[in-house]
Parts: sequence; structure tokens; C-alpha cells
Amino acid sequence: MFSKVLNTIVQQSTRQYSCKKGLKVTVCGGSGGIGQPLSLLLKQSPIIKDLAIYDIAPVTPGVVADLSHMDTNSNVTSHVGLDNLKDAVANTDVVIVPAGIPRKPGMTRDDLFNTNISIVCDIIKVVGQVAPNALVGIISNPVNSAVPAAAEILKKLNVYDPKKLFGVTTLDIVRSNRFVAELKGLQASEVNVPVIGGHSGVTIIPLISQATPNVSFEQDVLVKLTKRIQEAGTEVVQAKAGAGSATLSMAYAGARFTISMCKAILGEPNVIECSYVESTVTDSPFFSTPVLIGKNGIEKNFGLGKLSDYENELVKAALPELASNIKKGADFGKNYK
Ligand code: NAD
Repeated sequence: MFSKVLNTIVQQSTRQYSCKKGLKVTVCGGSGGIGQPLSLLLKQSPIIKDLAIYDIAPVTPGVVADLSHMDTNSNVTSHVGLDNLKDAVANTDVVIVPAGIPRKPGMTRDDLFNTNISIVCDIIKVVGQVAPNALVGIISNPVNSAVPAAAEILKKLNVYDPKKLFGVTTLDIVRSNRFVAELKGLQASEVNVPVIGGHSGVTIIPLISQATPNVSFEQDVLVKLTKRIQEAGTEVVQAKAGAGSATLSMAYAGARFTISMCKAILGEPNVIECSYVESTVTDSPFFSTPVLIGKNGIEKNFGLGKLSDYENELVKAALPELASNIKKGADFGKNYK
């Protein structure tokens, strides 16, 4: 997994950007199950000059000491506790947030709401005060509520730019690519399945009809595949039996999304990722679709594209759940002090 991300992302980046300005990336929750391998992958990117690791865990200086011995060019800094978050995000270009508790068997992502949304809001408040121009990606669950909550915090600070706030759903794409490749005997690296909607259960909508290369399945196989993608996170939660949720595949997906944001800031054309963003594509005020990311964030939303009848039904089924998740997050953000 790690060697793949290095080959596809880091080596390309070395060729294209080694003489250009390096960027600062801040990982909030950088000492956790996702945060550590994510930071390991980001430490290997030559387009990141400064990597700031923020967490409340006392192990953080140790994680940073460990990373700092790698003979890659970026500098890594340690920032522990909310009082030190300002330094972590000062002059940062990109903030990526995997802070918060993961699911245990039997829990939904929404069960994490009470703990995680206030963690995300605490972080976003400081980001809005200190680094209002940064591109921000939120990994912490429930993503469907965390992004609208973060938007409300930034609105209160008068710095909300919907083009710069992203919910990271890349793991759903990565999983879909892999599962389709397995079923069709393809190379996973050659498959690209757009996944739209949100990031929980029925709100995760893989668009198999728009996959490249073009693939088709009998309806019963398609339904099973779609359910597997929607419940893939739970597959990992159950297999880890109480020890958390996806960390390594999430770090891989999170590194892909973070480096895409960095490439966009550096002016690379055609940086396209699916992401959960403020949206007018459906009735849902936040919705994931493929977006073109540029220097200042989202430049174009590609919308839904042509959906099959089955995918249209999936969108219809997702909207009530999304509406409730979004309202809950936005209400929390509005009342947050
Ligand atoms: P973890 O418990 O292993 O790590 C979380 C880290 O956050 C810890 O280091 C912890 O100290 C830190 N943290 C807690 N409170 C904090 C605060 N107030 N400020 C800064 N840091 C704080 O959990 P994990 O497995 O890394 O998962 C992190 C989050 O990512 C969870 O909410 C999980 O549900 C979510 N997740 C999202 C996706 C996705 O696709 N978007 C996939 C998997 C997991």
C-alpha cells in the first residue's frame, strides 16, 4: 500500500515540483491511528516543506522525533495541546483533520457525534482565526455533520469560503476501485469509480455506471457490491474487534487527498477529487461530487453526471439521512461557543 502511494504520488511530485516552493501542511490528530501513517506518507512528499503535527496526546513529541529521523527534506514540528495549535497552523497551506475517536463494533458514525464534533469545532475555530486561507480537509467522523459544523464556525468568524472546506471521502473511492478490480480481474490502480453523496451507510453512493474502465454487473451483483462499499468501514471495525476503525487505508486515502490539495495550490492543472463540499447539485446543502481543485480551492463542481435508474434511487434514499446529519452538524456549529 505504502509503496503504491509513493510511486503514484511522490515520485511524480519529485519530477514536477522539486524546484518550486514547498508547502506547509498541518495534521490535526497526527499521533493517532490514522494520523501517524498519514504523517509518515506526507513526510515522504517533496512538495511538503514543513509538516506540523498537532495532537493532545503526550506521545506527540515522540512521533515527531521518530519521523524527523527520516532522510526526506521536510521539517517536522510537534505541537501538543490546544494552546499550541496556533503555532501548528500559522502560515499553513493545508490543514488535514483526523482528530477524534474511532468507532467500535456496533457503533454508527453518528454515535461519534458528541465527542468528535466539538473536537473538530475547537480545531476549526483556531484555523479560522490563524489560517483563514488554508485549504481544510476533515477526516473525523461523522464527516456528514462535521463539515457543516465547521462551516458554521468559519461563518461566525467571517472567513468561510466554501471553496476551501472539504470532507474527505477518498477512502470510499479507494475501496470502490479495489472491489471493482477484484470482481473484474483488473489492476486496481487502473480503476476509477466516482463516489458521491456523503460518508456513512446509505449516503455513500458509488457510481459504477461512470467507472473507468467501463464495467457492468448483473443487478444482484451490483446491489451486493454497492452494499459492500457502503458497509466497508464496518467490515474493518468488526475485523479489528474493538481496536478501532480503518487507519492504514484511510492514511493512504488521506495522503492522496492532501497531496492533491498541495498539487492544486502549486498550480497543477486537472486536480480532480470527489469530496463532500457545500453544494447546489441536489437539494442537500452539502454533497460529495467530483470537483476540480485549483490554487484557491474548488474551481468547478462536475455534479452528478448521467446516473442509472439504480443510482438515482440511491441518491433519493440518501437525501433524508444527509438532511438530518447536516442539520445536526450545522445546529451544533451555530450554538458552539
Ligand atoms: P485514534 O483514536 O487512533 O486517533 C485519534 C487521534 O486524535 C489521537 O491521537 C487523539 O489523541 C487525537 N485527538 C483526540 N482529541 C483531540 C483534540 N481535541 N485535538 C487534537 N487531537 C485530538 O482514531 P483514528 O483511528 O485515527 O480515527 C480518527 C477519526 O477518523 C475518527 O473520527 C474516525 O471515525 C475517522 N475516520 C474517518 C474516515 C473517513 O473516511 N473520513 C475513515 C476512518 C476513520
